[in-house]
Amino acid sequence: MAKDVLCEVNNCAYWADGNRCDASQIYVVSHKGKQADNSQETDCKTFEPSI
Ligand code: SF4
Repeated sequence: MAKDVLCEVNNCAYWADGNRCDASQIYVVSHKGKQADNSQETDCKTFEPSI
């Protein structure tokens, strides 16, 4: 289980100082179904815009 999630997306509602994610859990998805060949093909689906 990921304990300390670091994230640089600072316009997300869950983003906190120090590039920390304050969400209780995050959901990471792939652009290519259920597999990915590299990190560029993954995304955080939990993202919500802060405003
Ligand atoms: S929910 Fe996703 S995009 Fe938002 S701060 Fe956490 S890891 Fe980053």
